[in-house]
Amino acid sequence: MKKTPTLEHRLQAQIASSGPLSIEAFMARALYDPNDGYYYQKIPIGRDGDYITAPEMTQVFGEVIALWLVDLWHQAGNPTPFHLVEMGPGRGTLMVDILRTFITLKIPLSEMSVHLVEISPLLTNMQQTALSSFPVHVQWYKDFSEIPKNNGFCLMIGNEFWDALPIQQWVQVGQDWVERHIDWQEDKFVFLPQTTEALREACPAMETLVPQIADYLKAHTGVALFLDYGYDEEQALGDTLQAVYHHHSLPPLSQVGKADLTHHVNFHRLKTLFQEADLNVDGPIPQGDFLKALGFEARTERLCEQAQPHQRGSLRTAAVRLTHPAHMGTLFKAFTVSSFPTLQPAGFFKGK
Ligand code: SAH
Repeated sequence: MKKTPTLEHRLQAQIASSGPLSIEAFMARALYDPNDGYYYQKIPIGRDGDYITAPEMTQVFGEVIALWLVDLWHQAGNPTPFHLVEMGPGRGTLMVDILRTFITLKIPLSEMSVHLVEISPLLTNMQQTALSSFPVHVQWYKDFSEIPKNNGFCLMIGNEFWDALPIQQWVQVGQDWVERHIDWQEDKFVFLPQTTEALREACPAMETLVPQIADYLKAHTGVALFLDYGYDEEQALGDTLQAVYHHHSLPPLSQVGKADLTHHVNFHRLKTLFQEADLNVDGPIPQGDFLKALGFEARTERLCEQAQPHQRGSLRTAAVRLTHPAHMGTLFKAFTVSSFPTLQPAGFFKGK
């Protein structure tokens, strides 16, 4: 039987026939190739995967976000029906913790619908299992543009979504900015040009998606919260492309399709795009400040009182990891946009 060529071989063949691939095209294939792209063949999140995310560390993350969402729903006057949208829901854990907290707070799940935007078929299956016992209508979409525009208030959330999208890199060579590509030389993928001295990144998928999200929020009226790692300076930090494999970082081109490829989110650009679309923005602010303002530490201690000793240890470790500046407290940021100027999102202080 003829062996199907691997993704690596197919990318090599493509480069041999039509020349080096842009980083953006290369990432899109490495992440989303329907045969063996990363998100099509791997469960990336969890101890057996490549990385751990906040909702996988502690239930408190989803609980305080649920309180934040409910507060805004109350500020809007408890509108029904309403929609809860999540971008890139991973294993479904954040949504499970949000819905569990909504039930405790007696939010009428029958008046709401959940819309999940997820590209990975494997993660979609996990989300279906995770959410199957909740009495709420859930729908899945591979792309945000597929979500129907209905009426009703919208609450949207995305944790570590933007960092997963493909980027371009541009480097200065003499007077010109040239787009970096990936070539196959001496039996390996290499960057062309190799220099990273003056480097800027751009995320075309973000440029396309933000106006779509903005239109959706304006049509429905609503609010979105995004948490991710990244920076808020106008000038990019330089090369932020990284590969993560089994909880370690690797040279970005060494495990194509097997390692996650991510970048640091340019929050400055994200904010500008939403402002250009006439939405109200708050943040980004450090994730640690945001979570602490929502009572993250008090809730962690409350749970510890009822927990077994080993659970106490992991709850407290997670709280430190998510809030301490030396861990995820500063590099990770919280950012919110809304279509109403009067909403006051908790944890964000105006004028900062
Ligand atoms: N929010 C989750 C998962 C973060 S990982 C958590 O905090 O645990 C990134 C998520 O975005 C995954 O679910 C991944 O499959 C999804 N994803 C990546 N690229 C996507 C795209 N282009 N469209 C929709 N979902 C995408």
